[in-house]
Amino acid sequence: MPVTISRVIQALEPSATIAMSTKAKELKAAGKTVYDLSVGEPDFTTPKHICQAAVEAMEAGHTHYTAASGIPELKRSVAQQYQQQHGLEYAPSQVVVSNGAKHSVHNVCAVLLDPGDEVIIPAPYWVSYAELVKLTGAIPVIVQTRQEDNFKLNAEQFRAAITDKTKMLLLCSPSNPTGSMYSPEELGELADVVIEHDLLVLADEIYDRLVYPGHKFASFPTVRPGLAERTAVINGVSKTYAMTGWRIGWTLSPVGMAKAMGSLQSQETSNPCSISQYAAIAAIEGPQQCVDEMLVEFTKRREFVIRRIGQIPGISCAEMGGAFYAYINIAEHLGRPYNGTQIDNSHQWCMELLAQQNVATVMGSAFGTEGYFRAAFATSMETLEAAFDRIEEFLAG
Ligand code: PMP
Ligand code: GLU
Repeated sequence: MPVTISRVIQALEPSATIAMSTKAKELKAAGKTVYDLSVGEPDFTTPKHICQAAVEAMEAGHTHYTAASGIPELKRSVAQQYQQQHGLEYAPSQVVVSNGAKHSVHNVCAVLLDPGDEVIIPAPYWVSYAELVKLTGAIPVIVQTRQEDNFKLNAEQFRAAITDKTKMLLLCSPSNPTGSMYSPEELGELADVVIEHDLLVLADEIYDRLVYPGHKFASFPTVRPGLAERTAVINGVSKTYAMTGWRIGWTLSPVGMAKAMGSLQSQETSNPCSISQYAAIAAIEGPQQCVDEMLVEFTKRREFVIRRIGQIPGISCAEMGGAFYAYINIAEHLGRPYNGTQIDNSHQWCMELLAQQNVATVMGSAFGTEGYFRAAFATSMETLEAAFDRIEEFLAG
């Protein structure tokens, strides 16, 4: 029998963020200098005390299977940290530790969605959301937001997208790819619609600690009473503690959902890495100065990126309240040749920028909007300076 891939997987788009970063890595391995603004991962190394905790965990023999949904100590520490930061109490049994926040998005979709259910996703959205929804047979309903609204969904747009099949709203604040952040009031207005229509919410809050001065983060379940019973909050250590390779994420959710996700993991992945779980406890419970230090660096880079975007004719971006991405409008620069190559869309634009200038970025089409590209500024100032000089030169060509 010839190998035939299932229809569901044939329809799955591979992750464009991962694809662009793999391409950049390949070019680097081939000896090219690449200015890599593709992948969203902190360039800092994981703080020493966290690495030390991993070594100690190995030496103490924590090298075996753990409970599929995570060790009780880490669940306690996640619940405690959430309570301290946001004031809402979750029991450890409501925490499911996974192999990263991406895995948690899959878990939530897998345990909540049936074929035909609709999930409202404001665009621009992070590349994996629509695909992970589709994997369950459910339907992503993409609602376009506007740059002039800072790419935020409002209650009116949300209401207009609801049908009798709508099951869930998927929100990401601070946002990947735009960096935009919902205020507590804006979240409250969306929450009223959620309650009115009896919907569920996946709130991806992985950038909750990467918030720039003058902006205030609010966790979705805290903005109205009763939301915790209909929300899965997603977070993890990848971005906050520069731990992308350790693969630890989690959900805080109603107990029934947590149980279902635990069962799924027990069949699908077993426990997340035992050693990484102990390291995650050290990250959460240890000194938090490393988080502040990284934020200081990201703040400088953000200022630089905003300044450079302002200096280059015909491009713009919305205000970034958090995360480490600029979502840059290049609509005026499409539909013309660049050094003899015609460029009509963001995919061609990013591929040609890489080919002509060795700058790796991600095309807006991967995030559900045309006419933009995403630049991750989780990289050194030197790389950013060179990359933006090259982007400027490319656009002038
Ligand atoms: N959610 C968002 C919005 C992200 O940007 C990322 C980045 N990878 C993730 C989830 C997944 O993070 P991880 O799987 O590394 O924990
Ligand atoms: N979230 C990061 C990004 O968007 C990492 C890559 C990924 O997991 O998609 O670039």
